[in-house]
Amino acid sequence: MHLEPIPAFEDNYIWAIHDGQSALFVDPGEADPILSWLEQQRMKPVAILVTHHHGDHCGGLGEIQSQYEVPVFGPARERIQGVSHPVSEGMPCQIPELGLSFEVLDIPGHTPGHIAYLGHGWLFCGDTLFSCGCGKVFGSTPELLHSSLDRIANLPPETLVCCAHEYTLDNIRFALTVDPDNLVLMEWKAHAQQLRHAGKPTLPVRLGDELERNPFLRCHRPEIRTHLASHYSRPSNETEIFIALRDEKNRFG
Ligand SMILES: [Zn+2]
Repeated sequence: MHLEPIPAFEDNYIWAIHDGQSALFVDPGEADPILSWLEQQRMKPVAILVTHHHGDHCGGLGEIQSQYEVPVFGPARERIQGVSHPVSEGMPCQIPELGLSFEVLDIPGHTPGHIAYLGHGWLFCGDTLFSCGCGKVFGSTPELLHSSLDRIANLPPETLVCCAHEYTLDNIRFALTVDPDNLVLMEWKAHAQQLRHAGKPTLPVRLGDELERNPFLRCHRPEIRTHLASHYSRPSNETEIFIALRDEKNRFG
C-alpha cells in the first residue's frame, strides 16, 4: 500500500492511498490534480474521505463524481454536497477494494463537525493538527480544539500524521518565538528547509516527533508556560495556555 500527497491549490495536500490499481483520496479540494493523477497512473478511485466542510477540502467532489461513481465518506455533523456515507465517532469506514478500514474520530475545534480517520498507522486529521501548528477555530471553540488535540496527542507516537496543508516552515517560525531553546525544533527547521528546497513535502510527520516540537501539543511544558507568563498575567491551566498560544499565533505575521 502506498501513501502519496498530491499538491493542490497553494499549499494543500490531497492524500492518496493506492495499491497500483485502486486509489482512495482524502480531502479533494479540487478535482483537476486528482483526475490527471488517475489518468497518469491508470488507476481508478474506490473511495473518498472528507474531514470537514471547507471548500479547499471538498470542492472537487462534484467534478470527480461526474466522472466516477465513488463512495464519499464525510462528517455526519456537517452539510457537504456529495457525501454518500455520513460518519461520526465509532462508525465504520471500510474500503474493501483496498482492504482498508479506518476508525472515525470526532475532533471538533477547527470546525464544529470535524472528523479524522485513523488506521493502518495513519491519521488523516484535515486542518486540526499541522506540523508545529494547529488549525484556526471557525465556528467552534478553542476549548474543543484543545481537547481534540489532546486526544490526538495520546495516540501511539509512531502514528503518521497526514495533515492537509504544507504550513510547516511558517509554523516553525512561530514555534521558535515561543519555544526558542528547543533543539528538536531547530533540527526540524533545518531538515524541513532542506526538504522544501528539494521540492519535497515535509509531511507526513510522526506524532512522537510533534510531541517534542509542536507548541500546541506542549502546553503542559514549563518552557511554554514561562514564555506566556512574560506576556500574559492570566494563563494558569493548560487550556488557558493553549488559548493564549492560539491568540498569539493569530496575531503573528
Ligand atoms: Zn479548514
